[in-house]
Amino acid sequence: MPEQSCPECGASLFYDTSTKRYACKGCGLYVTKDELVNIRDKLHSNMDESRKKRAQQSEYLEWWLSSKK
Ligand SMILES: [Zn+2]
Repeated sequence: MPEQSCPECGASLFYDTSTKRYACKGCGLYVTKDELVNIRDKLHSNMDESRKKRAQQSEYLEWWLSSKK
């Protein structure tokens, strides 16, 4: 299994074979593999959402700037 990094803080995750969970020494995250995937998915969709918002804002800004002329 490739080395995983923490989705919250980017530190290396340690796999605990006895509990089958990943532990982060950086922020204390302690999750199963499924939970890790869920967190990654959520972070990814949040990023898409903020990118969309930024695009809308810049469209508005362009409109606003052009209306000032
Ligand atoms: Zn962490």
